[in-house]
Amino acid sequence: MSTSCYCCDERAIGQGDHVPPKALFQSGTFATLRPIIVPSCTTHNQAKSSADEYLKFILTSVAEGVPKDVRGGTIRSVIRHAKNPETSLHRFGMERTQEGLTIGKTAPVDEDILDEALGKVARGIYYHHHRGLRKLTGTIVVHPIFLGIVNDAPPEIHKTFENICKLMDEDMRSSQVHGEHQDVFKYQVFDEFDHIRINMVFYRSKSVLVIKRQSD
Ligand SMILES: [Zn+2]
Repeated sequence: MSTSCYCCDERAIGQGDHVPPKALFQSGTFATLRPIIVPSCTTHNQAKSSADEYLKFILTSVAEGVPKDVRGGTIRSVIRHAKNPETSLHRFGMERTQEGLTIGKTAPVDEDILDEALGKVARGIYYHHHRGLRKLTGTIVVHPIFLGIVNDAPPEIHKTFENICKLMDEDMRSSQVHGEHQDVFKYQVFDEFDHIRINMVFYRSKSVLVIKRQSD
């Protein structure tokens, strides 16, 4: 019996995909540490996607904009950030303009590509976490917390953002965190009765929350 893809029913081909993408790790990492590799079909093979490089670009670009004292507790910092409209997004190296979210006023963030790349990591991690017995399919919502929030966002958006940050913060403090290379990537998976929740942290401080509602 052939294995199927980590996120669809197609037959898996080739060597499978690294989760997260190999591009995020220093070269030589896997000489000593085991990578997470999931079976993938032609369509979902990350090697064919430019989204991985883009993800790396965004994560490392933002990393430069994050002060050292924020790195240890980005989530808390982001909560404070969300509460205080006077605080500038510049701390995160980000700015929201009419053209969209930008890094240092130069490169607009393509949120679709970013969502796609982060969504793939979440689906791969979910499959791996359940040893290939479950797949995360259908609609998911990606919250790239590390991008921060627009200062002049409506109060309800600030509230939602704040709740998301709190939820993830509580998870990280109260439940086991997985990952063999936690300097680069760590994660948590929660199967709740009405939703699936995946917390991911890149480079110790870039938090992303992915949610799948069971009704979607
Ligand atoms: Zn597939």
